Amino acid sequence: MSDVRQSASPPAPAEGIARRRGLLFVLSSPSGAGKTTLSRALLTDDPDIAMSVSVTTRAARAGEVDGRDYHFLEVADFERMRDSGDLLEWAPVHGNFYGTPRLPVMDRLALGSDVMFDIDWQGAQQLADKVPTDLVRVFILPPSAAILAERLRKRGLDDEAVVARRLAGASIEIDHWAEYDYVLVNDDFAETLERLKTILAAERLRRARQDGLAGFVAELQRGL
Ligand code: 5GP
Repeated sequence: MSDVRQSASPPAPAEGIARRRGLLFVLSSPSGAGKTTLSRALLTDDPDIAMSVSVTTRAARAGEVDGRDYHFLEVADFERMRDSGDLLEWAPVHGNFYGTPRLPVMDRLALGSDVMFDIDWQGAQQLADKVPTDLVRVFILPPSAAILAERLRKRGLDDEAVVARRLAGASIEIDHWAEYDYVLVNDDFAETLERLKTILAAERLRRARQDGLAGFVAELQRGL
């Protein structure tokens, strides 16, 4: 197992007017709605946000890398982390456990950087309880049930039984769409990505997140 507790090195904190509070950017959707592709594209285009790498007890899929896609754990290791308070949130999803290591997230936030989460509705609810003011929640919907089923099959990552389980789970995930701040229908990938970037840009500009503003305004007024 890779070292889950170790924090990835975040960028140096911004100074002066650029100083701001980091935010937690949560993306939820049923499997197959395009969330992983969208989050990867956003990460590539934006150096100020990092992905939270979850721990999970599910087996790695072909091509997945331990420490990059997930930290793959045995159930006993997961339970140890959970029971010692090392997880910011955790939930059972599709018969496995998933959770967010606390330390890397807190380290980045303290330095005014953002963290993106690919977590389900249960995790989003827990973050809403624990860190309500720093949280921005986005729900991604597929354009239709038929397209969702087709995307899951085309992915070819899971066998037919798993696909059927994920489709059944999709409706449960979608039940929670109204708990999110923003909802995007992922019909056109490029357009959805642009909308996601717009949401992030606007949320970073919220007055309450701009810690550097008060000093700037005071300085401005001294000059008047
Ligand atoms: P997958 O097995 O397809 O990678 O993920 C299955 C589901 O688990 C997805 O809906 C994903 O958002 C969710 N998930 C992944 N990591 C976490 C986590 O750390 N916490 C929670 N609550 N859900 C997660």
